[in-house]
Amino acid sequence: MAINHFTLVEKKYLTQDVFELVYEAENDFEIIPGQFITFLLPKTWFARAYSVLYKDAKKVHFIIKRLEKGRWGSKEICDYEEGIVLRGVGPTGHFIDSKKINNKLYIATWTGIVPLYFLVRDLLSKWFEKSLKIILGNRTQKNLYSIEEFQNLKNQFSNFDFEVFLSRENSPGFQMGYVWDFLIQENIQHFEEFYICGNPNMVDEVENKLTEAWVSQENIFREKY
Ligand SMILES: Cc1cc2nc3c(=O)[nH]c(=O)nc-3n(C[C@H](O)[C@H](O)[C@H](O)COP(=O)(O)OP(=O)(O)OC[C@H]3O[C@@H](n4cnc5c(N)ncnc54)[C@H](O)[C@@H]3O)c2cc1C
Repeated sequence: MAINHFTLVEKKYLTQDVFELVYEAENDFEIIPGQFITFLLPKTWFARAYSVLYKDAKKVHFIIKRLEKGRWGSKEICDYEEGIVLRGVGPTGHFIDSKKINNKLYIATWTGIVPLYFLVRDLLSKWFEKSLKIILGNRTQKNLYSIEEFQNLKNQFSNFDFEVFLSRENSPGFQMGYVWDFLIQENIQHFEEFYICGNPNMVDEVENKLTEAWVSQENIFREKY
């Protein structure tokens, strides 16, 4: 597996604790949408995986949440300023598209949206014709980001759609509840493949709901953070 050097060239706040970080890789590399880079963090000595949002030549975009409760890996990476150079391994990962021409549903909470965005954007850019729909969950409207980007995709591609579920707020234009509330038979019967990414409990809960609805395991793809 290749070790590369990544220089932080842009840092943007998306919400109070979520950042878009753009790194420039020393050596260009091929990546399959859905894959991640494992950063080797010099202060905490942790290795932490981060899914790629998208890659533009040597510039690699990430969205990373700074977790207050964590073991400091996410704080370390989010607290660095532009100019820091980090070592990273990869890209690696098997959370990639099946390459089947199917209707696909994508379910994410929090930063789980990152690889799903890369997967969907890649298919749409290749004029994939079947339906692609994202179900995104978060707590409140103020924790959301990238919604404008999804709206732009929706305006541009008639086969793309998305819905947002807020668990702690009832706001116009959003569903109130959890992402798995979407998974009633009437909604899922249109889809043949399911990609789930986010916190482990959510991934298990969604997978259970899908298997209860007789979705076969081979059509469920998951990435647990
Ligand atoms: C394949 C893969 C890809 C990942 N991609 C991303 C990414 O694109 N963006 C990102 O922010 N994180 C991502 N993560 C999570 C990341 O690797 C770290 O686990 C995270 O930054 C927390 O590290 P920590 O040392 O601060 O806390 P830890 O002590 O390692 O984790 C504390 C707790 O927080 C939970 N957690 C981890 N990540 C998140 C999150 N993003 N939101 C809410 N809870 C979380 C963990 O399940 C754990 O229970 C990914 C993880 C994996 C395995």
